[in-house]
Amino acid sequence: MRALCWVAADELAVREVPDPELRNERDAIVRVRRSSTSGADLPLLAGRDPLLRAGDVLGTEFLGEVVEAGPAVRRHRVGDRVVVGASVACGGCWYCRRGRHSCCDNGSTDPATADPGWERSDAGCFGRPPAAGGFAGGHAEYVRVPYADVGAFRVPDAVGDDRALFAADAAPTGWLAAELGDVRPGDVVAVWGAGAVGQLTARAALMRGADRVVVVDRHEERLRMAERHSGAEPLDYRRTDIPSELRDRSGGRGADVCVLAVGAPPARSVTERLAGRGTDRPDALHEAVHACRKDGVVVVLGGAEAFVDAFPLGAVTDRRLTLRGARRPDLRDVPMLLHRMARDELRTEHLATHQLPLEDGPHGYALFRDRADGCVRAVFTP
Ligand SMILES: [Zn+2]
Repeated sequence: MRALCWVAADELAVREVPDPELRNERDAIVRVRRSSTSGADLPLLAGRDPLLRAGDVLGTEFLGEVVEAGPAVRRHRVGDRVVVGASVACGGCWYCRRGRHSCCDNGSTDPATADPGWERSDAGCFGRPPAAGGFAGGHAEYVRVPYADVGAFRVPDAVGDDRALFAADAAPTGWLAAELGDVRPGDVVAVWGAGAVGQLTARAALMRGADRVVVVDRHEERLRMAERHSGAEPLDYRRTDIPSELRDRSGGRGADVCVLAVGAPPARSVTERLAGRGTDRPDALHEAVHACRKDGVVVVLGGAEAFVDAFPLGAVTDRRLTLRGARRPDLRDVPMLLHRMARDELRTEHLATHQLPLEDGPHGYALFRDRADGCVRAVFTP
C-alpha cells in the first residue's frame, strides 16, 4: 500500500510499504478515507525525536472504513464507517476503567521504551515513535487499529467525513482542555493558539457555558476563523498586552481559565528570539500564568518542551493557581462529540483548509508547518 513516511528532518515521502495485518484478536484493519496533519507532528517532522526511523508512517487523526476485524471485536463489523481516537488504549487497566485513556498502562507495545524524559509510558498514539507505542499512522491506505472496540467509533450517518475526522483528536483534546480547566458558566477563558485544537477548545468552553472566550494568536486568518466559527474574541499578541487586556475583559480579576494550545509552548519565544523579535516578551506559558486570576486554572496541552527554564512557580503558589496538562485526548468523549456533530452543535469541517491527495502529503505538511496560504490543517485522501 501507499503511505506517507518520514524520511529525514524536514523530508517526507510517499512510499510503498507492506499492508498491515491483524496481529491479535482485538485488532481491526481500517481503510482510510481521510487523515489530517497535527501540530504534534511538527517536532517529528523536524527530526527532533531520535527514536523516529526513516520509513515510519505519520498520521494521528484519521477516519475510514473497517475492512477486517479480529474474532474478539464485538462493536464493529466490516463496512462500518469509523473515526479512530488518537490515543491507543486497552480499555481495561486502572486508568482506562476510570475513563482516563490517555494515561493507559498498556498503550505501548514496548513499555520498556517509555518516554525517555519521564521513564513511564502513557497511552499509545498513531503515527508516533516507539515511546508512544510505535503504531503506524493514518497517512496511508490502511491502518491496523489495536483494541478496536475501545478506540474506534461508528460515525452517525448525519455526520460527513470532513466533520467527523476531527472527532479523532482535535475535538476531544479541546473538550478535555475545557474539562481539565473546569470551565463553568460565566467564566472568562483565554486560549493561546488558534489552530484546530485551540479553536475547538474555545468551542468546548462556550458549550460548557463560558461567558467569554478569548483566543490569542498572531495569524490573522486563524483569528478570524476562530471568531467566525467558534464565537471566540480574537486577540493578536503582537498588538496587545494580553494579561492587561484579559483583566479588562474579566472585571479586573484575570482569566478564570487559561489554556495553552500552541503545540510546544516555549517554541514561540525561541522562534522569536532567533528571528530577532520579541526578546522582551514572556513566552506563552509565562503569559498564561500571569494572565490567570487568583485560584484559576492553567491547562497546558500538547507536546510541550520537556523542560522550561525560569518557570514562574512563585506565581503558582502565591496566587493559588492549578496547573494541569495533557498530551493526548481521552476516548470517552468521542461518542458525545459525534452526537453533537450530528446535531450541528459542533462544526469542524472549516478546519480542513487544504484537501489534498495523499500523494501530495509532503507539500501539505510544508504548507501546514509554515502556516502558508492560511493553512490550519491539511487533510489527505488516499
Ligand atoms: Zn488501559
